[in-house]
Amino acid sequence: EKVLLNDAILNASEAKVSVFDRGFLFGDGVYEVMVQLDNRFFFGKEHLDRLESSLKKVRLSFELSTLPQKIDRLLDATGLTTEDCLLYIQVTRGTAPRKHAFPKDTAPTLLMYAVPFVLPEVNNKPVSAVTRPDFRWHRCDIKMTSLLGNVMANDFAIQNGHYEAIFNRDGKMTEGTHSNLFFVNEGMVFTHPADEHILNGITREIVLQLCRDNNIPYREEAIAFERINAMDEAFLTGTTTQIAAIRQIDDHTFYHRVEPGPVTKKLQQLFFELKKNPILH
Ligand code: PLP
Repeated sequence: EKVLLNDAILNASEAKVSVFDRGFLFGDGVYEVMVQLDNRFFFGKEHLDRLESSLKKVRLSFELSTLPQKIDRLLDATGLTTEDCLLYIQVTRGTAPRKHAFPKDTAPTLLMYAVPFVLPEVNNKPVSAVTRPDFRWHRCDIKMTSLLGNVMANDFAIQNGHYEAIFNRDGKMTEGTHSNLFFVNEGMVFTHPADEHILNGITREIVLQLCRDNNIPYREEAIAFERINAMDEAFLTGTTTQIAAIRQIDDHTFYHRVEPGPVTKKLQQLFFELKKNPILH
């Protein structure tokens, strides 16, 4: 398996990073995940814009202009140029003696890899989720590599036979560990506002745009945990998840448990059409 490390294409087993890399010591880095479908990156510009924004938020200076050319080199080396694939991009603050303060004039470390992308089964089979306290910090808007909170909650979900854990912060549901959360109530779509308590997913933004373009009413408003019972439908969104209907959250089973509910299904169809022609109005 080939990876790109800084300027070099290497076998994964030969790609080496210093033990003093701040990504390794502090989780001091940001990342992005996007998928190539039918020969183009699905909302690639939005993903690269978010990478730029994450870099700015953590004051990490990294030259992004050469990235497209490096992506091409990586896809070429992995034989994935015309294949559906997932691209992982990570930038850390680089190698320096271990001190909390940002080092001066340290070259960042860039790592990219690409693997074939297969559409997840969860797209047509409603999934089950479990809620966990949102013990993460207050800058969930940064797509950073320090993911221990997300990893711990997701591990709890998997250990208990669920697909995803949903975070509950002060009685309100924020998002999944690697997905955004939506509800539908009497035809109205709800999702947590894009503030510092969620990562504003590119898929989340696409779904909201699909709502606007198709006269599906929505509100960016968090749903309280105790109102789960009142919701008609729930679904998760994400680059690899796409749109996954939720069958069950904790003890509450949604009425539409075998098939996605009507609004979820409609959005899945619209999303599917968009993948063939990814232009939004
Ligand atoms: N929320 C979190 C915490 C995530 O890690 C992700 C993606 O990995 C998402 C939401 C969904 O974001 P996107 O749709 O851009 O993949």
